[in-house]
Amino acid sequence: MMLTVAEAYAAVLETVRDAGTELVPFEQANGRILREPVYADRPFPPFDRVMMDGIAIRFDSYARGQRVFVMEDVQAAGAPQLQLGNTANCMEVMTGAVLPELTDTVVQYEHLEVAEHEGFRRFTIKHPVKKGQHIHKKGSDVKEHATLLDDGALLGPAEAGVLATVGKTEVLVSKRPRVVVIATGNELVPVNATPQPHQLRMSNVYSLSASLQQLGIQPTVLHLEDHAESMKHQLAPLIKETDVWISSGAVSAGKFDYLPQVLQELGMQQVFHHVRQRPGKPFLFGTFQNGPAVFALPGNPVSGFMCFYRYVQPWLLAAMGARPAATTYASLSTKVSFEPTLEYYLPVKLVSQPHGKLMAIPQPYQGSGDLASLLLADAFMELPADISQFKKGDTFPVWKFR
Ligand code: AMP
Ligand code: MG
Repeated sequence: MMLTVAEAYAAVLETVRDAGTELVPFEQANGRILREPVYADRPFPPFDRVMMDGIAIRFDSYARGQRVFVMEDVQAAGAPQLQLGNTANCMEVMTGAVLPELTDTVVQYEHLEVAEHEGFRRFTIKHPVKKGQHIHKKGSDVKEHATLLDDGALLGPAEAGVLATVGKTEVLVSKRPRVVVIATGNELVPVNATPQPHQLRMSNVYSLSASLQQLGIQPTVLHLEDHAESMKHQLAPLIKETDVWISSGAVSAGKFDYLPQVLQELGMQQVFHHVRQRPGKPFLFGTFQNGPAVFALPGNPVSGFMCFYRYVQPWLLAAMGARPAATTYASLSTKVSFEPTLEYYLPVKLVSQPHGKLMAIPQPYQGSGDLASLLLADAFMELPADISQFKKGDTFPVWKFR
């Protein structure tokens, strides 16, 4: 029985194993997945912080009608907290400074007039003042010991700032699985070669490698000829040394599609071969006990690409402890028909519309060999197998690759 996409996906995710963790300097953690909670070591902000350049006063004096304040001292950012000597006076304060003791309100320079008189600096308040204004209260953003980041968070620029603020110089992140990307086929030549009329440059391994690099994974690349014995010979040593194999081609019904047999002879337990989907029907998946998970993708470039985003990427993210991503939905810009009872993955361009909905515009697509069609598309739209007429405006999940 050929599996549906949902069944195949569930079977793939069932085999996920934790990639493990490692400590890295926080400056190198960008793009990694956090594997420990991060707490606030101090309140945010850590003191009552002045938010405007101006003066700090005691509001009671203002409330009693006082408008002229003699300046006692200057509280600069980075200086220890001063104390107002006479609560009828004021302290000149700078943005980022600690609010001086015995003051509770800040008035910005723009609302003040300043005069020098007999060696005193005096400020006159020209605008109404509200008690407590322009003070960023200690702990008002985050309380001390609060959890800022959870296990599974993706570390990006905002997280880098928070890690720095709490002094987290080393962070526990998931390891990156050791991945090998495998091209198969006698027709393939290296990229720097000039192909004979019957040959092509191998391309799939490079798009797969680029997709992996976007997850922070740097794979090794291998090319196998369509020869069962040499395939076995090249693959056998990798069983112990790698976590994931992603191959391209040699899994269909061709006379030289030796990969399923070779994998079996090497001891891989096949989980499934073939899925009710187009493109990507010949997709084969299996695992080695104490060895790699094997994603044997069809050789047609669009098939392999789609299978990567639909199956391989979710597996890798789960292995690295990422939280499951929310599904993105889009609405078809035009009607589409697809008769076979296969789940159809339609290359679409995504355009966000003023009312907030995402529109999916189907892209001209000559079938699973049409590598260049991917240049115009952003995602695959998942069109269910049990429907054959899809109306304009119908909404379905999309699997984004851009
Ligand atoms: P196969 O599944 O091996 O029959 O391959 C299907 C098609 O994909 C064939 O036309 C292959 O030439 C092509 N193909 C397979 N692997 C690659 C690759 N790494 N780069 C580009 N094309 C490939
Ligand atoms: Mg082939």
